[in-house]
Amino acid sequence: QEPDETWNKVLHTQCPFCSVQCKAQIRMETASSGAVTYTVEGVPNAASGGRLCVKGLNAHQHGLHSERLLQPFIRKEGKLEPATWEEALQVIVERFTEGMAAYGSDSIGVYGGGSLTNETAYLLGKFARIGIGTRYIDYNGRFCMSAAASAGSKTFGIDRGLTCRLADIPLARCIILAGTNIAECQPTLMPYFNEAKEKGAFIIVIDPRVTATAKMADLHLQIRPGTDMMLADAMLKIMVDEGWIDERFIRERTNGYEELRSRMQTVDLVETARLCGIEEELIRKAASAYGQAETGIIFTARGVEQQTDGHLAVRAFLNLVLASGKIGREGCGYGAVTGQGNGQGGREHGQKADQLPGYRSIENESDRAYVASVWGVAPEDIPGKGVSAYEMMELMHQGEIRTLFLMGSNPIVSNPNVNLVKEALEKLDFLVVADMLLSETARLADIVLPVTSYLENTGTLTNLEGRVLLREAALPAPGEARQDWRILCDIAERLGKGQLFSYASAEDIFEELRVASKGGAADYYGITYDRLRREEGIYWPCPSTDHPGTPFMFSAAFAHPDRKAVFTSLQNPVTKERVSKDYPLILTNGRVLAHYLTGVQTRRSPALAARSEANFAEIHPDTARRYRVEDGQWIEIESERGSFSVRSRISGNIRKDTIFVPMHWGGVQNVNLATTPALDPFCKMPGFKVAAVRIKQVY
Ligand code: SF4
Repeated sequence: QEPDETWNKVLHTQCPFCSVQCKAQIRMETASSGAVTYTVEGVPNAASGGRLCVKGLNAHQHGLHSERLLQPFIRKEGKLEPATWEEALQVIVERFTEGMAAYGSDSIGVYGGGSLTNETAYLLGKFARIGIGTRYIDYNGRFCMSAAASAGSKTFGIDRGLTCRLADIPLARCIILAGTNIAECQPTLMPYFNEAKEKGAFIIVIDPRVTATAKMADLHLQIRPGTDMMLADAMLKIMVDEGWIDERFIRERTNGYEELRSRMQTVDLVETARLCGIEEELIRKAASAYGQAETGIIFTARGVEQQTDGHLAVRAFLNLVLASGKIGREGCGYGAVTGQGNGQGGREHGQKADQLPGYRSIENESDRAYVASVWGVAPEDIPGKGVSAYEMMELMHQGEIRTLFLMGSNPIVSNPNVNLVKEALEKLDFLVVADMLLSETARLADIVLPVTSYLENTGTLTNLEGRVLLREAALPAPGEARQDWRILCDIAERLGKGQLFSYASAEDIFEELRVASKGGAADYYGITYDRLRREEGIYWPCPSTDHPGTPFMFSAAFAHPDRKAVFTSLQNPVTKERVSKDYPLILTNGRVLAHYLTGVQTRRSPALAARSEANFAEIHPDTARRYRVEDGQWIEIESERGSFSVRSRISGNIRKDTIFVPMHWGGVQNVNLATTPALDPFCKMPGFKVAAVRIKQVY
């Protein structure tokens, strides 16, 4: 391509690859030979303090990749063939209309993603409910944040990922990192923890693996996967027995403590230590450090949350926060460390089965009436509650959902029990996938629509702190790629709903989103694009345009009507998957530094792909010896659901009873061929983190 003014500029953007949303600038320089070089730098004053990790330094490579989709594709005689937008949109509308006439609107499902901007997440929910009229919409954030979100809502009355500021981390005297590997997943946050450590904080990491994060801990509890709730209960019992609780805080600001305290009498510390695979003395040490610290913050992430008791496990950690009164003051709080780029915002604006914008409930009459008034429809025009992401796959498998519209997600890799998901997708009458690259799911589609990447897309994202940030397009869309919100408007217009989807820009959509969220739990009403351009992000809730935003939550009151937080004393109602003679090992999964989600984008970055080329199974040397596995050998790992094949990586950093496999690869290397589809009854999170497996074969 000839150099022109587009090719000699500084692009201002944000890294899309995690919930920190580090600001970056990309300097594009063209040599006289025509070769273009890209220099990426962090921008100071962002949440990351101007830092970028290796993902942020190389994120642009997927946006500029030669495999970007530049025009729509329609499947003809089994092959995806290039098509015009007009042809693709016409086929979509004809097939949607036929499907609705034959089987009703609920035969169409809509599936979104936690990397979509707030504007697209909002519009996707509106598109599903009143563009198509289906109750079936959910998104991949169901696998990411649903346990922490539901736990936060029940406990505090509102779900905001981080209840305090990142700047509070160095003020905490004790920090618990439960099931989170920040050093690899959100690396630019590490300096906050290092500073806390330098100031004398005691850091506890709870993880079955000796991760890079665990290596900086003062105390590493190398827990057996699936026992986090028991561990938190044991810590609480010790704190209660030792009097390391804040009675005044409990009395004045909480409900439900007495019931919980009597349940604590039944906790058997010896048995808990045995089940968790941790010495009782270490549990006592953790309880002592957190219980007696003047200030403290607890973080949870997928290690705690992606379990069939994920909701209650998070609430067990929140019980510790409330019992010790470590919330609502400096250096104190709770944080759910989101993974996806818009993990926080993606769950606020209505792309969840049970939710309308502003965190409103789809089952609450006044919430429905309010949102209907903003959308200009009658409340009864908004369908009722749908089902969660994996349950949608089951309905597809059963033939109840016959058409799927998918945007910003790759479910054939990210769902549990992939064998069923593959069959479900193949059974569909019609599958439309909007993506920037040909993902594993897009390869199955009847129609593929090209969308813009983070470099070409304007919209807001809400980072893990609840801080709303504006990311403006830095480049024009390549080829015929379109803004994802524009695609939704194009389809809605052809379905005869154009008057309800008439927007000129992402800002136009945000203006409606602000109003839709007004008075809701996640109130964005006071946030505008003008303010976001002037200010370094604004924390919700922000109820008016002269409101500064709310970096710090719950200093005076919680969000329940009586202003109090709620302890839980519920017991886990689900029987977890257990190892057996046939399946003697625990399979758990997670991330690696170089990759994001299902790797569709990061594998297109040569620098990132080179760091982690293939999937692997981390396995303890003793376990490897038992199964005669050599380092680097191919092994097949099998559960009751299915099997996958990866190379072994022998390491003393993992428990002897556990195998760790990353989640970023599809095909025969996909760990989700073996994971369980069992769901948490409270939030419908699948139990990704615990699957009973065996090493079936060594090649
Ligand atoms: Fe920042 Fe996360 Fe991107 Fe790394 S991956 S640069 S921590 S936003």
